[in-house]
Amino acid sequence: MSERLDAFMARANAAYYARHDPFADFTTAPEISQVFGEIMGLWAAVCWQMLGSPAPVLLVEAGPGRGTLMADALRAIGRTMPAFRAALQVHLIETSPRLRAAQAERVPGATWHDALDSVPAGPVLLIANEFLDALPIRQFVRRGDGWAERHVEDGQFVERPADPDGIPAHWSTPPEGTIREHAPAALAFVDGLAARLVAAPGAALIADYGPAEDLPGDSLQAIANGKPTDPLIAPGEADLTAHVPFAALAACARTAGARVHGPEPQGMVLARLGLFQRSNRLARSLPPAQASAIMEAARRLGEPDRMGRLFKMLAITHPSLTQCPGFEA
Ligand code: SAH
Repeated sequence: MSERLDAFMARANAAYYARHDPFADFTTAPEISQVFGEIMGLWAAVCWQMLGSPAPVLLVEAGPGRGTLMADALRAIGRTMPAFRAALQVHLIETSPRLRAAQAERVPGATWHDALDSVPAGPVLLIANEFLDALPIRQFVRRGDGWAERHVEDGQFVERPADPDGIPAHWSTPPEGTIREHAPAALAFVDGLAARLVAAPGAALIADYGPAEDLPGDSLQAIANGKPTDPLIAPGEADLTAHVPFAALAACARTAGARVHGPEPQGMVLARLGLFQRSNRLARSLPPAQASAIMEAARRLGEPDRMGRLFKMLAITHPSLTQCPGFEA
């Protein structure tokens, strides 16, 4: 029996995140440098002020991993903007019980949710790093004058006739065999988020891996034991991700009435938000070996030939926020 790719990916990742320590297999920006989480926290604090300092306010993180980003963010917020620290309540969106336990150690007093739906309504600042890339995608292949959809059977792709209603209307008619991806779960998340950001003051900063423009191709990838592996062979043993379709997400948020800033390369946004200055200041207070590690980590996150260009940042805000920290006007 074949399983549609999004169902396969959802099942594989639920099993993977429940059983494995993902950080044994790959590293992420907040694990590379504490300055990443500090900057995201300070970004939220500045947006909160620009939005008129609503209180109470929710500080939400989607897919918090080990809880490192949120712990770094809260520490920086507490030092720099105690009024925001006093007004905020932390809500974490996480399905893995194992990672929830890790998060509880670093972020005591948080409230957990399986999805955005159950997060209470009201003013919100949301941050997410490498969350959307883990959500299930669908893949379609151009066949004749229509599309086939990719399913998985016995560790291989098989093609099944596609339901024409599942095909996004704006897709052109590309050459035979062209693969297109559709990310209904990421789009549904952004749609729900944008609706909240229109209904109440708020802002969201999303960092992830993917192109700024709409591109065809198969971007599904798997990492197991630190190495790329076949995504279809052993579901639950590898972390499955796909490129985040930033252009489609931005369009979705705009349609919902929210304001969109970016996407822009992560390195540019982080540099404008003070990645190198903060890292420098921190380095000056550290012994030489740790100081050079902090500066090397900043270069890894920010330089275009490292993570600075492949990763993008997208901000989605209440329409009143005509300027957003870190993004060009
Ligand atoms: N943001 C962290 C972790 C990235 S890994 C970091 O940058 O280090 C992806 C995270 O999203 C994990 O915490 C994983 O358990 C969570 N996740 C994956 N799929 C999810 C889903 N469908 N709903 C909620 N959380 C999910």
